[in-house]
Amino acid sequence: MFAEMSQPIFHAPDHDHGRCTADAIKHAETLCAERAQRLTPIRRQVLEVLLESHKPLGAYEIIERAAAGGATRPAPITIYRALDFLRTNGLVHRIESRNAFVACVGDHTTGELVVFLICEHCGEVGEAASTAVADELKSAARNAGFTPKAPVIEISGVCANCKQAA
Ligand SMILES: [Zn+2]
Ligand SMILES: [Zn+2]
Ligand SMILES: [Zn+2]
Repeated sequence: MFAEMSQPIFHAPDHDHGRCTADAIKHAETLCAERAQRLTPIRRQVLEVLLESHKPLGAYEIIERAAAGGATRPAPITIYRALDFLRTNGLVHRIESRNAFVACVGDHTTGELVVFLICEHCGEVGEAASTAVADELKSAARNAGFTPKAPVIEISGVCANCKQAA
C-alpha cells in the first residue's frame, strides 16, 4: 500500500533532526519565494516551534513555546493566522483526531492524499503519501455519486521504533 515511499516514514530516535529542520525551513523559503508569499518572522517561528519534533502540538502549546522564545507574547489570533498560512501552503498539517498541528516533513505535493500514522506510544506522526489509496477512495466516492474534498485519513497504532524498543 505504501510501496512508493522510499524513505522511512518514522524517524529513528537518533536521526539527524537538525537536518529535518534545516530541510523543512529551506523548503518553506523556496516555496514562499515561488508563490510570491512572505515567510514572515511569526510564520517562520510557528514553523520552527512545530519542527522541534515530529509530534503534533495543540494551538496553545504552540503559543506557549512561541512566547518562551520571544520578548513579547504573540496573540492567539496571530498564531492562528500563521497556522492558516502554513497549512494552506502545505507546510503544516492539522491532525484532526488530536486537534493539533504537525510540521510537514513528507515528500509529497499539496493536494496529494496523505495518510497520517499516529504512534500512540511516542506520539510521533508519520506521513504516508499514497496515490493508490487516493485513487481507490476517489473512485469509491464517485461510484456513490459523491464529490469528495481532500480526504483525511488518520491511523493510530505503534510506530516501528516503539515496536522495536518494546
Ligand atoms: Zn527529524
Ligand atoms: Zn506532509
Ligand atoms: Zn512510536
